[in-house]
Amino acid sequence: MSQGIYQLGRITHHSALVVGESVFVWGGERPDLPQALDHDSLQKRKLLSTINRLEFRTGRWSSHVTRGTSPPLGPMGYFCTTRNNEILFFGGWCGHDICYHNDVNSFNSLTYEWSNIIPTSDAVMKRGFGGMVCLESMGTEYLFMIGGTGSTPTTYQSQYQYFQLDTGHIHTNEQNLLNISTRQWIVPTISGQYCPPISGFAIQKVTNNKAIMFGGSVTSGDNRNDVIVNTVYTCQLQSDSTIHWESVKGPVVPASVQWPMERRLHAITGIISDSPTLVMIGGEGKDGLVNDSWLLNTSQYQWSKIDLPESVTSRDTHSLSSIMMSPDCVWLVVVGGGAATEWEDVGRGYKEPFSDYITDPNITMLIELVLREGEWKVSEVLDSTGLTTEAYQHKYQS
Ligand SMILES: [Zn+2]
Repeated sequence: MSQGIYQLGRITHHSALVVGESVFVWGGERPDLPQALDHDSLQKRKLLSTINRLEFRTGRWSSHVTRGTSPPLGPMGYFCTTRNNEILFFGGWCGHDICYHNDVNSFNSLTYEWSNIIPTSDAVMKRGFGGMVCLESMGTEYLFMIGGTGSTPTTYQSQYQYFQLDTGHIHTNEQNLLNISTRQWIVPTISGQYCPPISGFAIQKVTNNKAIMFGGSVTSGDNRNDVIVNTVYTCQLQSDSTIHWESVKGPVVPASVQWPMERRLHAITGIISDSPTLVMIGGEGKDGLVNDSWLLNTSQYQWSKIDLPESVTSRDTHSLSSIMMSPDCVWLVVVGGGAATEWEDVGRGYKEPFSDYITDPNITMLIELVLREGEWKVSEVLDSTGLTTEAYQHKYQS
């Protein structure tokens, strides 16, 4: 690798958001962050006051100091989505004990400024490791938060379930709506077949008012252990603040259709075309990393496998983002994540599982998919080193 080029280091439990022709990555679990972060301090704020940016034009990462009020203080497993030039953050794990956040912060990708949109409150559960999308109804934009793992809630809402895991963390299917213009929390009405308490799933917006969820770990009934699932859920915001849920569980005729196995800590992004398609990469199954990648046609809920190298698929707790280069060409960016779980000898004959970080040259992978005869096919895969070559820049400019 060329010397002097800034590279994003090892990272897990983060999100990567595309705004314009850049990918932004904030927070995450990193080997250069202290093992346990304090709740709030000048030092923590300073550590979290940087953001990484990958520009498609150059294929290069750069690190920037952020401005404004304060960065969010839950850098791991935060909920995250974009809105115009803004990146919106909710919650996240604090970095110590069973401590989570529930404030909403906005990062302006043009000015690099943070602003606190909604301060912490008792109205919603403090949590991380769930999902958030920006949905629209009757011309009004809402942030929709679903599920996750968090600390003991102040307010238990009767329409949701809260299960205490053996670790003391609380697992939930709580759902919240935030009216972005009035900045008010709204308790939605829930209808249809919605998910049990769930975390570690992936969610992607597919139309103005609809999102699709896949996988994750769930708890239900008196089973306090997580069960990893492969259910597709759709949730749709209706005009009266009702979230209508439907679930599609496994193939209708098992032998005749492909359906991905159960997983959590995978990543999903969308391809915008005549029929919205989702791309899913990696994750962890019952027996370790699942090591595969899939496309989901969202009009018929048909899955098909795509052929990507292990250097891309063999990871969990990574991020996946996409940018349309033309109607028949999409670039996917996979960032970071954990590699296979290994067993570390902690002495006296005991072994503990630990998940190692993905390392370079595989930290940033760029995948080009092209639409040929109605099917998305892999046409190129570049790693962190490939992105820094002149050949890449020529390709971008062509
Ligand atoms: Zn804390």
